[in-house]
Amino acid sequence: ITNRLIEAEKLELVSNLASSVSHEVRNPLTVVKGFLQMMIHTDLPKEKREKYLKLSISEVNRANAIIGDYLSFAKPHHKAIDKLDIKEVLMQTIQVITPLANMNSVIIEKKLDDYLVTGDQHLFHQCFINITKNCIEAMPHGGSLHMYTERKNNFAVITIADTGTGMTKEQIAMLGKPFYTTKGNEGTGLGMLTVFQILHQLHCSLEITSEINKGTCFAIKIPLA
Ligand code: ADP
Ligand code: MG
Repeated sequence: ITNRLIEAEKLELVSNLASSVSHEVRNPLTVVKGFLQMMIHTDLPKEKREKYLKLSISEVNRANAIIGDYLSFAKPHHKAIDKLDIKEVLMQTIQVITPLANMNSVIIEKKLDDYLVTGDQHLFHQCFINITKNCIEAMPHGGSLHMYTERKNNFAVITIADTGTGMTKEQIAMLGKPFYTTKGNEGTGLGMLTVFQILHQLHCSLEITSEINKGTCFAIKIPLA
């Protein structure tokens, strides 16, 4: 069992990240543009046409995934700090990820209580989406996704755990490095980076515990309002 705590851990300043990300989005778009141009100018055989269309769709999906994982960064920073019920945000997250869970035969088991915290609802939502999506993707043959809340002193602790592939010590250490992914072209390597940045910004800590072939557990500690 390996454990990593992200707390006051000095976050590497990724100042040129925005430009790397726009570069990553531009690549697939350039590829799509090329295919579209070929499809205008030539009388393509049906098979070629279909191949180009499929590739174009997959490239557009890729650009979309990069924007989706990273979205919260690009958004202008909301200065308005609200009091919010973390249960409501978690319910909203569950609603969004349920189709993906169903596709992977993942059962969601939840036990959520109302806790008032301060922060930006969109940022929390983005953070939970990125974590739960990774959990589901770590269970391609099904499993269960546990989500529960508890109170510890002046904190609400949100636990999100999967019964998936787990990670080695080295893999856990790589989490949050820009563009680190084991998912090839399907991955962006921006999800956990976004999670760390958001939690840092909201004064929350994250503890990751994992065991190969058993699963991974993310414990997010949020100061109560
Ligand atoms: P992406 O999901 O696009 O690959 P992330 O930053 O979200 O990028 O995750 C980086 C990598 O961390 C993943 O490719 C995966 O190898 C690993 N990972 C993240 N969460 C989990 C998890 N719950 N179980 C197993 N591996 C995980
Ligand atoms: Mg991810």
